[in-house]
Amino acid sequence: LSGDKENLSNTEKEIERALRPLTFEDFTGQDKILENLKVFVQAARQRGDALDHVLLHGPPGLGKTTLSNIVANELGAGIKITSGPVLDKPSDLAGLLTNLQEHDVLFIDEIHRLNPIVEEYLYSAMEDYKIDIMLDSGPNARSIQIGLNPFTLIGATTRAGMLTSPLRARFGINARLEYYDAQLLTSILKRSASILRTPLEDDAAYEIARRSRGTPRIANNLLRRTRDFAQVKGTGQITVAIAEMALKALDVDQNGLDEMDNRILTTIIHKFKGGPVGLSTIATACGEEAETIEEVYEPFLIQEGYMKRTSRGREVTEKAFKHLGIIPKHRSG
Ligand code: ADP
Repeated sequence: LSGDKENLSNTEKEIERALRPLTFEDFTGQDKILENLKVFVQAARQRGDALDHVLLHGPPGLGKTTLSNIVANELGAGIKITSGPVLDKPSDLAGLLTNLQEHDVLFIDEIHRLNPIVEEYLYSAMEDYKIDIMLDSGPNARSIQIGLNPFTLIGATTRAGMLTSPLRARFGINARLEYYDAQLLTSILKRSASILRTPLEDDAAYEIARRSRGTPRIANNLLRRTRDFAQVKGTGQITVAIAEMALKALDVDQNGLDEMDNRILTTIIHKFKGGPVGLSTIATACGEEAETIEEVYEPFLIQEGYMKRTSRGREVTEKAFKHLGIIPKHRSG
């Protein structure tokens, strides 16, 4: 439920593709970002220029990949998709760049995980649409410069703070995606349900929406699972009762926190007296990677006021104690 895209079966991947909005029109929420992008895309088209490079950041599952596809679509351009960790060597990057048509989009997911050598090559590509390629090595080594078609790099990252400053400085457009409120997720769910031809009651849509951690990918995942429950345990229609049953079976609690959210809070309370405690200590105690806690779980727990970051580490709040039905003991500091 954490918003993983790697663990999906092929059918599920097909469904995910079918649910993905393809135009600005289809995309719900993130109004400010959308309004700006519409202007920038139209301006670039009118001038006959490539769109300036775009950096999208924010927690997983909020629509960074979706939006990048939409931008390419709206530019009337193609898109090549890759990710930071996959671009191992400069030649991998050179291969992609030299194959781009004029005004195409190159989408690099997890751009904060680029190999520094590959990143260096990206600088001149972004700035001057040129790359230097090394031919041979040792005494015969020489470099030749190759011109590229003007293109748009769209970088996505869950951690804008991890980008080097030279890279960050080369993005002319920088947008931070926010969590979605229950209203927006309700409309996304209704759209998805109609694509899946699954009857979804309004109240049920809202119930799933408000328990989706503000994240469209999670909302759609929950919809698919609820659809299974409706089919097997009900009449095929997703009612509130079916939604409740499915959410309970999936360990999504009344406030929409999942099993790992609750484990993190409980661990901080029971093992570390509510904090403050360091991230890596929490990670070890929870059996989860520190990076995942920091990128996936913590931003939502902080936004919802269950947890805070202090200079001495992570601390749970009164709300977390209340949520878990635990009476706070006197805390020494
Ligand atoms: P990210 O790249 O930020 O991890 P994705 O773009 O892969 O997120 O989005 C995850 C899924 O959520 C997509 O398959 C898409 O169907 C859905 N989704 C994301 N944002 C929206 C939105 N604003 N409206 C409708 N569906 C969305």
